[in-house]
Formats: sequence, structure tokens, C-alpha cells
Amino acid sequence: MKTDSHTIDEIIEVAKKKNANVNEELIRKAYLFAADAHKDEFRASGEPFIIHPIEAAYTIAELGMDAASICAALLHDVVEDTGKKLAEIEKEFGKDVALLVDGVTKISEIKPKSKDMAEAENIRKILLATTHDIRVIIIKMADKLHNMRTLSSLSEKRQFEIARETLDIYAPIAYRLGMEKIKAELEDLAFKYVYPETYKDLSEKINQKKGERESEIDHFRKMLDDKLKENKIEAKIKGRAKHLYSIWKKMIRKNRPFEEIYDVLALRVVTKDVKGCYDTLGIVHQLWKPIPGHIKDYIAMPKANMYQSLHTIVMAEEGTIIEIQIRDEEMDKIAEEGIAAHWAYKGATHKGHPGQSGAATQSEKFDKKLSWLRQIQDWQTEEKDAKNFVDSVRVDLFQDEIYCFTPKGDVIELPKGATVLDFAYAVHTGIGDICTGGRVNGTFTSIRHILRTGDVIEIITAKNQHPTRSWLKIAKTSKARNKIRKYIQEMETIPVGHMKEKHVEISEDVKSIIEIDGVKKPKMIKLAKCCTPLPGDPVLGFVSRTDIITVHKIDCKNIDKITAEVKKKVKINWRGDVSTKMQLKVEANDRVGLFADILNTISATGTNMSEAKAKMVNKELAQVTFYAEVDDIDHLKDLIERIKRIQSVKRVYIGRMGM
Ligand code: MN
Repeated sequence: MKTDSHTIDEIIEVAKKKNANVNEELIRKAYLFAADAHKDEFRASGEPFIIHPIEAAYTIAELGMDAASICAALLHDVVEDTGKKLAEIEKEFGKDVALLVDGVTKISEIKPKSKDMAEAENIRKILLATTHDIRVIIIKMADKLHNMRTLSSLSEKRQFEIARETLDIYAPIAYRLGMEKIKAELEDLAFKYVYPETYKDLSEKINQKKGERESEIDHFRKMLDDKLKENKIEAKIKGRAKHLYSIWKKMIRKNRPFEEIYDVLALRVVTKDVKGCYDTLGIVHQLWKPIPGHIKDYIAMPKANMYQSLHTIVMAEEGTIIEIQIRDEEMDKIAEEGIAAHWAYKGATHKGHPGQSGAATQSEKFDKKLSWLRQIQDWQTEEKDAKNFVDSVRVDLFQDEIYCFTPKGDVIELPKGATVLDFAYAVHTGIGDICTGGRVNGTFTSIRHILRTGDVIEIITAKNQHPTRSWLKIAKTSKARNKIRKYIQEMETIPVGHMKEKHVEISEDVKSIIEIDGVKKPKMIKLAKCCTPLPGDPVLGFVSRTDIITVHKIDCKNIDKITAEVKKKVKINWRGDVSTKMQLKVEANDRVGLFADILNTISATGTNMSEAKAKMVNKELAQVTFYAEVDDIDHLKDLIERIKRIQSVKRVYIGRMGM
């Protein structure tokens, strides 16, 4: 953390190091203009005001931004604080600089009306300014960073307010933009003012342990370094100092004491290229024992904020746990500077600077990664209503993570709105594929159940369960959705195996959910008992001499035998678009709680149901009838499968249609 002031010469020096052709003249002119405009102003600390824009500009230069950005950082408070007109800036420095200054000014101008709306309104303003030109938000971050570094001279009340705003708004935006270095510094600076006692307590504990920890890290760093050299892998290894706020958040999230969180050591390996990353991972796992379930490949699957790395957690000698991040130099830069690093590539490309091999690809990558910003712009024009706008932004970009637990206490991080099904896939793909529900804090729930932070989830599975298309509506995470899609694709190309299922017969009214090719007014349709087709399965109809159609799965082993006995074969299609109220009948051996179990199972899926009735068919057998509103054939199929799994249920079938 550096608080002593830089000079304009130092800014120029850094800017030139990043880009030899930077417009030095324009930057010097902006400096003189700002110094003159602010000449009678002083900061709360008593220092000349110009120190503030100079520091912001220095940060911008360090990020490798262009001359216009550096000028705008120098001029960012001129319009707001000194009464200079924007037109004057435009005249002196051009439209580009003027637009940037205007963008930063607009962010600062917002004065939230109610405390409740403050966060949402701020986020909205900032994002709108951002969609205009990404450089605006980067300059705003540099502005914020210096203000936070010099917060100590303000009143306690202002300190708290500004620090709170930083934690609520600016740090999350920095995170979303991948600007990890700035985010971490903002958080630690704000932490000190928002939670002064916790901060003090934690920093004391860290100071006490510092020496011991450093020598430990050094020991393991050297071990790994030797091994990498032995294998001729070129890499730099850094011991990572975790920042205070993230340690504290982790303590809360995992509900663990400081020692347990802090005793986990952290190393980062920066390699020359991607291949080096995977080679290093192999070496690490030869050297130390990986802890299962903690290897993450964010290189193949980058995070939404563009972050790429390999993560692993290993157990070294004497049970020491080490978290290791492995990435190449470019990924490392992006991991620390995020969107600013991308902009620097793109900026260089646009101005046609030499020495940027593969620049076009970089530029394309950048455009792709900025697509979410463009989405915001679309919403802005589509959604006139500010609240809707804020809601959509919140859901898609600022949805906070929730933290749930496995029965063993492992933490699973999910986006807000994630369901039991997402959790199952987050634990393991194999578990997701056969998930039938969950026990959330001891209560049975369906796969559709939405989770909350702190929930303890035990996943319930069944061997004959498998993903269906309707699961795509239930899963919120891309991981779960990808796995479900993959399963469905595979099942569409590989013939379905013979699943052992209870007998299901669908009554005559099955006509309503299937289309029959070539037979008018069949006397009856029934589903074959040998292969028990369900809605959605690929099937064929066999017409008997008495015009009864029996529906078999296309891969039924009896098909060859049947062919000789029937009049003809007909094409049968399930109607996938059935969105209707449908009568279902359930037959089961009567027992205490049967009716309740059936109703709970249905309502747990979120299915609307009505007119549920139960009656006794004979001494043992009960029949439950109800109407269910199904969205499509997969929903229906899912529902039938669930009911069939209820204890003592004998069969489920479809009653009358379209009521
Ligand atoms: Mn400022």
C-alpha cells in the first residue's frame, strides 16, 4: 500500500514503459489543467487536492491504460469540484477524454434517495456508465482506491459510510470485472472501518503467526521449486498472502476458527504457458497427496469474470494443507487486473501497435467476454422500468453466492436460486444423474427445492433414476445443465437399456398424448408390459387383428416375435407439447400416510394439482385420483416416476385428459 504522492514525471515514465508511443504531451497538458483548476483546493488531510487525481492517474498508468484514460483520471474531479465546463475539456482534450470525464462525474453525482435503494441505484448508475465505455469504471476504481487509502482524515461517520459503500458496491463490481488486486485492497481498507474490532483482532493474530507461517511457506516453496527444476519446468512460485477480509469471510462461511483457516498454506505457480500449468499440476500431485474433490480446472472452464487457473488442495508432510493455484503469465495478469488487462490488449490492438502477436484473437476474446456488458445495454433500452432493470442485473450479475454444506461439513458454493439438483451435480456428476431429491436440514424435499445459505443437504439417489429434459428447467448452474444435456444427447444416440420398472399401464385416453400414424379410431391402445414404455421413450405401435394397438419401446427384445403375429406396425409419437391439466390415477396398497406421501411428493415438485381424492378399490388396494398441470411430456414423465417410487404404490396411469 503506497500513500506518498507520485509526480507527473513518474506517471509518464510508467505509461511509457507500458506503451512507448503514449501521447505524453496530452498527459502533461491535462496535468497542468487539473493542477490549475484545483489550485485553491485542499484535501481533508491538508494536502493539495491535486495529489488525489495524480494518484488515480498513476494507478491507471500502471494498469497500462491509454493516454485518454490517464488524462481523464487527472481531470476526473475538475467538472464536479471546480465548476469547469465539460465543453472546455472537450475543446482542450477532445471528445474521447470529455466523455470519460463525464462518465466518472455521473457516477459520483448520484445521491441515493432512500437507504434501501442506495445499493441498487448505485449499481445501476455505475453499470450504465460502464456500458458506455469500460474505461469509465476502471478510472472510477482508481479514484475509489485512492479515496479509500486516504480515508483516515475524514470523520468517523463518513469513514463508515464510504467504507460500507465500498464493501457493498465497488468491491463486488471490481470482482465481477476480475480486478482482483484492486478488489482485495478495497476490501481490506473498508474492513478496517466497517468492522474495526474484528479487523484489529485479526491483524494481531496474523502478526503473531507471521514469522512461523513465512518459514513454513518458504520450506514448501523450495521443495516444489526443486522438483519443477528437476523436471525442467520454467515457473515462478510465490507464497500467497491471503487478504484479511477474505480470511474473515471464510471463517464465517465455514464457521471455523481463525487458526483453521489461516493454517492452510497457499502457493501460486506462474508458468510460461498452458502446457506448463498441466505439467506442474502433475508434479504437484507426485510430490504431495491431492485431496479428492478439490481439483478445479478454471483453464478449461473460466469463471464468469474471466479468471483462469488450475486449483488443487494437497496434503503435505505432517498433515499440512496447501492450496495451490497454477496459471500462466497472461492468466496471472488477467487474474489480478481483469478487464483492465483485457482493455490494455484491445487498446494496443486498435492502435495497431507492433509486438502484439495474435492481437486479433485477443481482441475477439475481449469482445466475447464483454458480451454481458452489451446485454445490460439491451436491457436498458428494453426495460424502461428502473426496478426491473436493477432486478435483472442483480439476478444475472450480482447474484450472490450461497454456501451450503454436505452432511460431512464440506462447503458447496452455488449461485442464489440454486436447487437440490444443482447441489447434487456440484457434489459429483454421478450423484446428480441419479438424484431423486434431498434431505435439507432433515426434511425431505424434491430436486426442485431452492437452497439457502447454511442448509445441510443430504442427496437421495435411486439407481434407476436418470436425467430428463425437464431437469433443464430445474437446474440453475451451468455445470448441472451441461451434464444433463450431455446425458440426454448420449441417450438419444445410444439405445436405452432395459430398465427394471414397475408395471405401468396407460388407459385408453393415452390417445390424447400420442399421435398415431396410419390408424383411424383404434379400439384401444395399451402400453406393453415387457418393456413398459413411458412418455418420451422412442416407441412403435403394433396393431392386432382386433385393432388393439400395443405400444413397445423400439428396442424391446420382443419386437421380432411380435412382428409375426400382428396385422401391421404403426408409427407412434409422444406429443411433447402437451401443456395441460391431466388426470392421474395411482393404485397402491393402503397404509397409514399414503395419501399424504403422494400429495407431498407432487407438491414438492412444484406441480399445481387439484381435486385430489382417495378411495378404496378393495380391502387392500387404494386408488388416488387427482389433476396435475403438466408443462410438457418430460414433466409428466418425471411426475410419474416420482409417484412410482413411493412406498406401496403399485401402478400409476393417466386418466381423462384436458379437463
Ligand atoms: Mn475523485
